[in-house]
Amino acid sequence: MKGKLIIVSGPSGSGKSTVTKLVKDRLNIPLSISATTRQPRTGEINGKDYFFLTKEIFEQKIKNDEFYEYANVHGNYYGTLKEVVENNLSKGLNVILEIDVQGALIAKEKKKDAILVFFRTKDMETLENRLRNRKTDTEEVIQLRLKNAAKELEYEPKYDYTIINNDIKHSCQELIDIINS
Ligand code: 5GP
Repeated sequence: MKGKLIIVSGPSGSGKSTVTKLVKDRLNIPLSISATTRQPRTGEINGKDYFFLTKEIFEQKIKNDEFYEYANVHGNYYGTLKEVVENNLSKGLNVILEIDVQGALIAKEKKKDAILVFFRTKDMETLENRLRNRKTDTEEVIQLRLKNAAKELEYEPKYDYTIINNDIKHSCQELIDIINS
């Protein structure tokens, strides 16, 4: 039996991480930890939130063909290690990747039956409020993320499903229904 690959993307602040984490817990889906070259935020733990790597080590892993997909997002590298995806799928376990739009299309190219789910807020104002309220980023980072959000939204038509995240509980149920469908 083979597992399903579910890929969740959407602008920073759309709430996709919160919903994805809750759904993984509810459905007992193993965590898939990405690698990144960005600096850890306060409270983030290496090996739990991300594998925080230097640019040199990340680039070495690219050369060694260790990534299922990777992309440059907001000025840093982010990537999914092959072993994370392939081990779980081959064991029949579902895998949820929460990755950016570029990485999502690379993964879909590799696995044509991957299910692409796009998360967004109902409008840009809501997104901006969420980015500000979480108080994790500097003004400069917020501005960059808002600028990138407009670009990311252009990819929405390429996705199989959209979840407009107004209410976390409702969005979790929508994602669960998509996975089980
Ligand atoms: P953050 O810095 O807020 O944790 O993540 C920034 C962006 O990078 C988000 O859109 C997130 O989905 C994306 N991202 C996280 N991990 C990966 C990954 O492994 N690959 C790709 N392509 N994007 C990722």
